[in-house]
Amino acid sequence: MSEPASTSTALAHAAPDSFILTAGTVVTMDAQLPRASAVAVAAGKIVAVGTLAECLEVVPGAPVIDSGAPVLMPGFIDPHSHPFLSGLATQLPALSIAPWKAPTWSEVLSIFSQAMAEHDADVPLLFNGFDALLHGRPAPTATDLDDIFGDRVAVVVDNSGHACSFTSALIRSRGWDATPPADPVGGSFARDADGALTGISFEIPANTAVLGPVMQQLGGSPLGSAAEYYALMARAGITSTSDMTFSTDLAPAYEALAAMPSSPLRVSLWEVSTATDPGAAATFDAGEERLVKQGVKLWTDGSPWIGNIATSFPYLASDATRRAGLDPATAGGPSAMNYSRAQVDATLDACAPLGWQMSFHANGDLAIDFALDAYERALAQHGLLGTDHRWRIEHAGAGRRDQFERAARLGVHVSLAPFQYYYWGDLLDGQMFAPEQGARWQAFADAVEAGVVVSLHNDGSVSPPSPILNVQTAVTRRTSSGRIHAPKQAISVDAALRAHTIDAARALHREHLVGSISVGKLADFVELGADPYEVPPRYLDERVKVLGTWVGGARVDLPEFLAAAHASDPAPHAHHSVRGLTGHGC
Ligand SMILES: [Zn+2]
Repeated sequence: MSEPASTSTALAHAAPDSFILTAGTVVTMDAQLPRASAVAVAAGKIVAVGTLAECLEVVPGAPVIDSGAPVLMPGFIDPHSHPFLSGLATQLPALSIAPWKAPTWSEVLSIFSQAMAEHDADVPLLFNGFDALLHGRPAPTATDLDDIFGDRVAVVVDNSGHACSFTSALIRSRGWDATPPADPVGGSFARDADGALTGISFEIPANTAVLGPVMQQLGGSPLGSAAEYYALMARAGITSTSDMTFSTDLAPAYEALAAMPSSPLRVSLWEVSTATDPGAAATFDAGEERLVKQGVKLWTDGSPWIGNIATSFPYLASDATRRAGLDPATAGGPSAMNYSRAQVDATLDACAPLGWQMSFHANGDLAIDFALDAYERALAQHGLLGTDHRWRIEHAGAGRRDQFERAARLGVHVSLAPFQYYYWGDLLDGQMFAPEQGARWQAFADAVEAGVVVSLHNDGSVSPPSPILNVQTAVTRRTSSGRIHAPKQAISVDAALRAHTIDAARALHREHLVGSISVGKLADFVELGADPYEVPPRYLDERVKVLGTWVGGARVDLPEFLAAAHASDPAPHAHHSVRGLTGHGC
């Protein structure tokens, strides 16, 4: 074999049609060949994996590109996100007050003051990321916000996406002081004894009514905001993701983002069940490898952090819940369910015969039972038991071993949320819930040992995209403070990495395309600065740095992508104004 000439990484973006990519080691996530040193790529797909010599046999004479990276892995997959709405939520003109940016309420107040000083009084102010537990105070009412914002229209979106707080000026601007709006299906407004709004809305339909006109007035560049969020995900090593709150009004934006040079993400779309026709077929100019409608999404309960998850066990009366305004008398419990069984059954009966992959948000144990009961009936009714349907449960905060075993029996996949444990774990164990339930929140080991297909996710703007931190959390059970709760719920590095690669691909029904470095799959890679199997697990996030990503055999050039996104914003604002910045509520 003659020694091929190496080209520099700088040339990689303009990679030829066929080439061989090398790295210190290639971690394939393919059990047939876990390690390699080279990958041959042709027309955007992987055509050989192995040694350089083995790759040269398949593509003789192909140029060899040394990635320069210590490790090459399949691009990470975040199988539950909301990239477009997360762009609106976290990027300008929205202002972030998320706990990882503003950890205390006094820091939030500083951001409020600065925003008031910097914007004309007639410009609405929009903030995202309030968290009652971590900010240590109840969700602000209109009265609370009026004390801060006076006569200004201002909205504060809960970090969970499940609630919004707003000022009296907003209530007046809609005429809601004279005529309070009715509660929409699947959503509600907080009211006083006379039925007047007190300035808090819950769940997407109500949040949308609050936010729609605000977003419309703010204008901004929704495509640019979404592109910034794409870039954030790419910098975390992600090459495939989903939108669990898709509706057809977002299609033009997704098409535009997919068509941009160096677009860094493939997106699988789940349409919200509250859409006009959630079961409608959808095709995209970008092609199925880039953009595909995969299923229909429904949220059975809400967020643990605002107290509207359906649990069989109570919230505790503690300093943390008192400060957050979570009343054990009303928080949690069976009434936190967003839908009746009849409503859910109707959605499943409409969507199951069309072949959609159903996905139910469910955090509390009662919500998980509810979702599994509904799934089991519909799967039996429509002849889907024993088939490869892969209906999903999302988050499963309080999920128990027996529930995961039942999910496995039904062929239901579970996508877990390590960030719930990482950021809130110290509060969950003994402050929010009794240790019996709280310590084992996000029971990674129970899920994996039950034999269910487990994936991990960041849930859009609910937590910063961070597959490596998710892996670290699932493997160590260390929270952000370094404490460990229910250490038996830790899983292996391999299981956690699978949950962000090959098993996450299964959750998207895309393992024939992505999730491992295997012949025939798309050439989507992440370059890492260290080997995640070699680094002590507690240092994974600190030491395993993402150096870059590849999508379809081209190294992603984020400056090129972002420049294109900001240069043109063909999506009229009406596209998102009706949806509003709901975070997602899922
Ligand atoms: Zn979500």
